Amino acid sequence: MGKIQCIGILTSGGDAPGMNAAIRAVTRAGISNGFNIMGVYRGYEGLIKGEVKPFTTEDVSGIITRGGTILKTARCKEFTTPEGRQKAFETCQRVGIDALVVIGGNGSLTGARDFGMEFDFPVIGLPGTIDNDLYGTDATIGYDTTMNTIMECVDRIRDTANSHERIFFVEVMGRDAGFLAQNCAIACGAEAAIVPEETTDVDQLAQFMGRGIRKSKKSCIVIVSESPKCGALYYADRVKKEFPEFDVRVSILGHLQRGGSPSAHDRILASCTGAGAIEAIKQGQRNVMVGIRNNEVVYVPFSECIRTDKRFDKRLITVLNELSI
Ligand code: ATP
Repeated sequence: MGKIQCIGILTSGGDAPGMNAAIRAVTRAGISNGFNIMGVYRGYEGLIKGEVKPFTTEDVSGIITRGGTILKTARCKEFTTPEGRQKAFETCQRVGIDALVVIGGNGSLTGARDFGMEFDFPVIGLPGTIDNDLYGTDATIGYDTTMNTIMECVDRIRDTANSHERIFFVEVMGRDAGFLAQNCAIACGAEAAIVPEETTDVDQLAQFMGRGIRKSKKSCIVIVSESPKCGALYYADRVKKEFPEFDVRVSILGHLQRGGSPSAHDRILASCTGAGAIEAIKQGQRNVMVGIRNNEVVYVPFSECIRTDKRFDKRLITVLNELSI
């Protein structure tokens, strides 16, 4: 492949606050370094269908403050097939995209890896997901804002829990990872967190009730990671059956967790990794995700960052337990 002139940029998977800041950073850093930038709409679906538009600096004006993604996003089944990725490659050839920056989560970067390897195509990833489930970066774009959003919601729920002396099970997002639940529980002063990382070997509800949760407290908040089988409703039902003396309520925060103006942390992370993506292309790197580790920009091979077993520091469980007495 010859010299890279035009860089395509897309957002994929669930939207995350800070994706716009990342789009702005890639566009502006790209233009500053002499590249043409092409916005690709609706993630991989738009890449397959050829929904592209040349981007100028004006196209990304005023978006650093906005949640969501101006490029739209999608979950695209066709791209998981070799035929779908072939169509996406043909679009790149047709419109003149010779490198791609993909902003998304685990699935999006898995697709990016396959695409890059199959067509020997330079692809750089940015960690754009509220779940924080990517290896090689201390945080993902959107995670900090989402934690703050959850914290504000739970602070309000706490008022009601206190006033009515209730147990609240608050369900938060996170897919198969408990980062949001565990850290938000600490940030909110919750009494417990129920996270997927722990469910295999212990009954977390029994543990929590066994700690005599209501001995010293009249109300409590339990943050529960979303799960098709064992979400907040499941645990609330169990408490109602096993401990009918408690007044139990459920609050599923749902999609309000995704939106909103990104925090300063997410804007800076998106800006630095976005500029880092252009630097990576200049250095001739490919098939890497740009992350920030210990305040330094790092380039992490896709195969490493998409490992599915990223776990939070188990000491956080001890911290929560010790502080929630
Ligand atoms: P979030 O963390 O917000 O859920 P994500 O990027 O993990 O974001 P997914 O829905 O898992 O979201 O993936 C987004 C898109 O990436 C999929 O719709 C699909 O087009 C592509 N993708 C996911 N997994 C693969 C895979 N194994 N091979 C190729 N493409 C994939």
